[in-house]
Amino acid sequence: MKLLTKKLIAEYKTIQAMITIYCRDHHQSEKKGSLCSHCAELFSYAVTKLDRCPYGEEKPVCNKCPIHCYKPEPKEEIKKVMRYAGPRMLLPHPVLSVRHLIHARQAVPEKPKPNMSNRYQRMQSMKNESDE
Ligand SMILES: [Zn+2]
Repeated sequence: MKLLTKKLIAEYKTIQAMITIYCRDHHQSEKKGSLCSHCAELFSYAVTKLDRCPYGEEKPVCNKCPIHCYKPEPKEEIKKVMRYAGPRMLLPHPVLSVRHLIHARQAVPEKPKPNMSNRYQRMQSMKNESDE
């Protein structure tokens, strides 16, 4: 995922790993290691939200975030996924898990700074490139 910046790539990988664990144990997808269509949809929704997160690089962990950017339905689903997969992350993904735990203990910035979102940054860099 080239479009996301470093910190957000870790977020991306974390959510991908969580949905993969959840889907593997709850749904039967045709191919091993791939998401069922429902989970694939949820994942792409999560990635869009990640891209547009107004905190951008300073994004807090989702369950501590004061901004509720998910619609109620995917929000409930992602909560289920995180509750289930969170404790099961440690063995297959120790680095991501530890990183997430440390991240979860950090203070949440009260308000995002303006124009922090990955989407905004990406648009800006595209603009700059076309100006040259
Ligand atoms: Zn699934």
